[in-house]
Amino acid sequence: MVAPSLDKITSFTPPQRTLMGPGPSNINPRVLSAMSLPVIGHLDPAFAGMMEELKVLLRYGFQTKNPLTYPISGPGSVGMENCFVNMVSPGDKVIVCRNGVFGGRMIENVERSRGIPVIIDDTWGEPVDPNKVEDALKKNPDARIVAFVHAETSTGCESDAKLLAQIAHKHDAMVIVDTVTSLGGCPVLVDEWELDAVYSGTQKCLSCAPGLSPVTFSERAVDYVTKRKDKVQSWFMDLNLILNYWGNTARTYHHTAPVNALYGLHEAMVMVKEEGLENAWARHTLHHQALKAGFDVLGLQFVVKEESRLPQMNLVTIPEGIDEAAVRQELLNEFNLEIGAGLGPLAGKVWRVGLMGYTAQKESVILCLSALGSVLA
Ligand code: PLP
Repeated sequence: MVAPSLDKITSFTPPQRTLMGPGPSNINPRVLSAMSLPVIGHLDPAFAGMMEELKVLLRYGFQTKNPLTYPISGPGSVGMENCFVNMVSPGDKVIVCRNGVFGGRMIENVERSRGIPVIIDDTWGEPVDPNKVEDALKKNPDARIVAFVHAETSTGCESDAKLLAQIAHKHDAMVIVDTVTSLGGCPVLVDEWELDAVYSGTQKCLSCAPGLSPVTFSERAVDYVTKRKDKVQSWFMDLNLILNYWGNTARTYHHTAPVNALYGLHEAMVMVKEEGLENAWARHTLHHQALKAGFDVLGLQFVVKEESRLPQMNLVTIPEGIDEAAVRQELLNEFNLEIGAGLGPLAGKVWRVGLMGYTAQKESVILCLSALGSVLA
């Protein structure tokens, strides 16, 4: 792309799209309005009150009583690093389950935290195999942590977070869990499943703008981090420092919080509360079923078996002889509809059709089916 000349640049007006890719999803106008409210100081008592409410709302979202539940400033990847840099000390053995792109990133995070990853691979499109996790823990009794992705966005597959956490705890290991695509779209029960360090993202099933990552840490995880003898290698993400801003009401300066982004998340979480989590999960399932019925008629096959299929992330195999990139381009140009391409070994083989958050509504399903039907005809 040629660099635009400075004198031709004016205000940016984005096109209006229906976002049915792997994220971001569409944002409720209420959230956008909240984000345009006046900036106040991030240490202002009014802002501190809003932060306390946001923590309560996020605890509801995660279904947890964990005091340390807050949104870290930065996208889901920052939430991921936040968990790994704090939970993994140099030399720690971490069992990492990889059944898609984001499990691969967890391995990177373990290595960069100077930990030792023990990698368990599963086929892309299939859930993490609990038997392999059990075997790995038996072979590596010194493993401190098991890390896995609950909802793999690259494959549309859900793993059994409750069972994996049970196995890990049986062997006295803690769990780090990625819920970037699951939170708000299907059950994430942090306390009931006894998850230790959990991160998510705002731009998927929470219908909020990208750029924040809700995280929650169990008392056991906080205890580990606060007792670490060595310094956490990232200053920005060190929980011991963040605790002074998000953890208590004294609020000492850590970094300038993204004030308006946090207004947006507060409003998005108020909307989750108003709808009710169970209703939000049911809405994602309902529209997924409608989409599936339409895909069946169009002859599009799902990649993931029904029992592990995520309602919010639908992977379908591209029919023979179709130029998949040209189809996506036509959907974007002619219908203002974004769907996602495959990643890694699935690149060129699948489309990823998201039904997340505000996008999980009947208008999106109807648009997607009619647009795809017309482009593929
Ligand atoms: N984990 C999963 C499962 C994701 O789907 C994503 C993003 O799509 C991330 C982590 C990283 O989030 P972000 O792109 O907001 O940094």
